Amino acid sequence: MKTKPEDRMAYEKMLPGVLTAQGFLGNDIRPLAEIIMEDEQEFIRLGLDFEDVANRLEVLKQAGEKGLGEPITVGKLLVQTGDARGMLPCPWGDGLYHKNAISVQPADKPQEACVEGEDMLIFSDLSIHLLRVHHFCQGLGSPFRLDPVFLKQLIY
Ligand SMILES: [Zn+2]
Repeated sequence: MKTKPEDRMAYEKMLPGVLTAQGFLGNDIRPLAEIIMEDEQEFIRLGLDFEDVANRLEVLKQAGEKGLGEPITVGKLLVQTGDARGMLPCPWGDGLYHKNAISVQPADKPQEACVEGEDMLIFSDLSIHLLRVHHFCQGLGSPFRLDPVFLKQLIY
């Protein structure tokens, strides 16, 4: 698979310490196009749609904002939004997004018992954009990775 120049530039910006301290790739060593392609296949396998998942995350974010920083119950989920601290550019260079953090977990599980990536999903405005526009769920091991299996289990 040949790497597109725009993907190569985006990839360099995803490395730790460029746009964010931790970067977007976690401990994933696959080329960017492969990460995207494999998550696209996983979405198809699970019957998920990128646009629909992005819309659901957006709805959860907007509902969570009503809690003004306190956890708020939205259906079967507990949503909490943190303060936005500045803006973050998309690694592909097509927009600026609030550097916020929205956490979503099952409402019936105590918050302190939730483990990130297992019961708790954490995302930002940029995560929603990356998912919707670039079909990029972030690399394996990235704290903001939107794992397709976990997404389906939690928000559907
Ligand atoms: Zn973008």
